[in-house]
Amino acid sequence: MDIDPTDRSFQLFMELQAGLDQQGPGSDALTLRALQLLPDLPRAPAVLDVGCGPGRQTLCLARALPEAEPIIAVDFFEVFLEQLDARAVEAGLARRMETRQGDMTALDLAPGSFDLIWSEGAIYIMGFAAGLAAWRPLLRPGGCVAVTEITWLVHDPPAEIQDYWADAYPDMVTVEANLQHVRDAGYRPLGHFVLPSRSWWDGYYTPLQARHAAARERYAGDAEALAVVAEGEAEIELFRRFHQTYGYVFYLMQLP
Ligand code: SAH
Repeated sequence: MDIDPTDRSFQLFMELQAGLDQQGPGSDALTLRALQLLPDLPRAPAVLDVGCGPGRQTLCLARALPEAEPIIAVDFFEVFLEQLDARAVEAGLARRMETRQGDMTALDLAPGSFDLIWSEGAIYIMGFAAGLAAWRPLLRPGGCVAVTEITWLVHDPPAEIQDYWADAYPDMVTVEANLQHVRDAGYRPLGHFVLPSRSWWDGYYTPLQARHAAARERYAGDAEALAVVAEGEAEIELFRRFHQTYGYVFYLMQLP
């Protein structure tokens, strides 16, 4: 990972983000809807949550799969793992999960050891196709993957938003192109659905906007800090204007 933890812009970014209940669009209802699109899992499935962040979906899965082995929840940043550990204790779910610091690009986990790999709002860090290919060896035969990925919902987005994402995430493609990535990586698609824009606002952008507003006061006159805030605000403003053209899509798939 090419992140410099001593970089002030990065520290300011983490200060804005850390402490939220989730670090991307999604909701428990949508996590459960995705779970229902999977075939029956083994009686005590081994589940891996990649890029778990503060673990909203980890907690949801731990509740929904009470017979599962303790869910392995991996994230690069300790600040999120500590938050998830505390939430798990509070929810009485601590024994149903195990947090681990790790890099999703080089997961130190036994091959062929998982029935289900879950990842919400995180596979973009590797790129959809690269992530699916890299995690595949960790699955048992017949194992499943459930991921959300930011996706173009139209074929001809306006130039302004196309230019923004060409710079921010050039790997972003349409649903059809992602389904081809799924098949190319050796999986059978099981289903997909678009996350409603409400789940961006309720779970993520609305609480983040409150953080931005507070930071504008706290850092008044601090140009470097305000630039980081402005970047976050700009992303949200683009979603407000162009949410019909892109969104997060849940993709479900299975190995032969
Ligand atoms: N699944 C969570 C978090 C999504 S945000 C949710 O939906 O709320 C993406 C997460 O990926 C962040 O928690 C971030 O810390 C983590 N991450 C970033 N780079 C990573 C890497 N190389 N390896 C593992 N996790 C990483």
